[in-house]
Amino acid sequence: MKIQIPDYIQVLIDLLNQNHYSAYVVGGAIRNALLGLPIHDYDLTTDATPDEMLKVFSSYRLFKTGIQHGTITVLSKGQPVEITTFRSENTYEDHRHPSGVSFSDNIEEDCKRRDFTINALCYNKREGLIDFFGGIEDLHHQIIRCIGNASERIDEDALRILRALRFAGRLSFTIEENTATEIHKQKDLLHYISEERIHNEWVGILETNALSSILTEYSDVIQVFIPELKEYIIQESLTSINQSPLNANIRMAILLKDISNSKEILERLKYSGAEQTVILSCIRNSEYKLSSKIELKQFLSTLNIPFDTYHQYRTAINPNYQRENIHAYYQEIQNMHEPYQLRDLAINGNTVKELGYHGKDIRDILQRCLDAVIEKPENNTIEYLINMIKRTS
Ligand code: ATP
Ligand code: MG
Repeated sequence: MKIQIPDYIQVLIDLLNQNHYSAYVVGGAIRNALLGLPIHDYDLTTDATPDEMLKVFSSYRLFKTGIQHGTITVLSKGQPVEITTFRSENTYEDHRHPSGVSFSDNIEEDCKRRDFTINALCYNKREGLIDFFGGIEDLHHQIIRCIGNASERIDEDALRILRALRFAGRLSFTIEENTATEIHKQKDLLHYISEERIHNEWVGILETNALSSILTEYSDVIQVFIPELKEYIIQESLTSINQSPLNANIRMAILLKDISNSKEILERLKYSGAEQTVILSCIRNSEYKLSSKIELKQFLSTLNIPFDTYHQYRTAINPNYQRENIHAYYQEIQNMHEPYQLRDLAINGNTVKELGYHGKDIRDILQRCLDAVIEKPENNTIEYLINMIKRTS
């Protein structure tokens, strides 16, 4: 089996080989190559120690963050590439962190400490594909399986629970029976994982194709970190979630829409301010009445997230939402540059000030002007609005 390795990676392998070290592409890149999926990054693994790598790559720009774990990042033809020294299994502390890092000169040992069989495939041009743990067969049968003893592997690093769900969801694979049993059995170990890590994996899970089957089969696991997501809430969300591919924020909004403390949940899971704004704006406007172009403009004047995001959310949650109509109105508003925000007005605060108004009055008057031009866009001219202010104040 031949795998296409890009030049900027091959030159690094060649240089290590010329210096009598071995090197392989490992992990996600090989998995995805065999599945015919896009490859976002190539990780290399080598028997050269970090100090030896620094010598081999002395003429390259490199970054040493991660060096205590054996990883250096080399800039190859402008692309950052992580190269990690083979590591061996270690004992783990607190169900997440290895007690220390031991380097190894043995590729099999390095593969053995990896999480799933499909993530422990290695490849280089000289030796071809290396598969110590049946990863190719599992890829073939579409199975996520822990390397070694599932009970121990999950106990030592509980993050693997969420990684298994994420890969199963993304690839539409099944989690092998033993691994699945241990995931259910040891789910409470997720309490040892930091909220930041949970957040990252959870967002990854939310983005996966097979999210509904993950939510259905592993609801007990998800309830460990979002206990508010009761069974019936998950069940009721499934139809909406299954609509066309939706991003993680929209899917989270769908899941939380009927839960009163959604903000608290987002805070707890370390959602950023920007993510919270998107999710909460969708939820808060779930029922906004939108049946005319004027209503849409009034709504847009208060909406603080991209309309497209809201539109996708609303389409997903509400079968009665007039998707086509609303979108046509939106297009028309955009095409005709119809005003719906204060900054679209032909006048601004200074204009109103010059007419003799101060403070809060200015804002109120501008708002009245906006309401007027939302109804009749053709009135958005300096003359009309000044006349209107003089007339009605
Ligand atoms: P992705 O496409 O999501 O990047 P990936 O397989 O490259 O998939 P990474 O999280 O980038 O996943 O990790 C790279 C490799 O490191 C994995 O393929 C796996 O071999 C190993 N790995 C990562 N996290 C763990 C873990 N918690 N336990 C064991 N091995 C792990
Ligand atoms: Mg990766």
